Amino acid sequence: MDNLNICPVCGNELIKNSSTGKYRCETCDKTFTKAALCDKCKKEVEILAACGSTQFFCNHCNELKSKKSIEFFLKEEV
Ligand SMILES: [Zn+2]
Ligand SMILES: [Zn+2]
Repeated sequence: MDNLNICPVCGNELIKNSSTGKYRCETCDKTFTKAALCDKCKKEVEILAACGSTQFFCNHCNELKSKKSIEFFLKEEV
């Protein structure tokens, strides 16, 4: 997943803030968070951080997704 840490706007490398887990592009002055898409409906899934493991839930398909059946992307914070 490391190859995803590239600014979708300018292509520069994003700097991860280890305390918030957010990604920052200093060139664009934008902040991104990692989000996930359902492989079936291509809608954003909810990321549920359970103790120790991360789970993903698609509200559209109404099912729990495994890490293998989602696609990560960087979403701009507004
Ligand atoms: Zn940028
Ligand atoms: Zn879905």
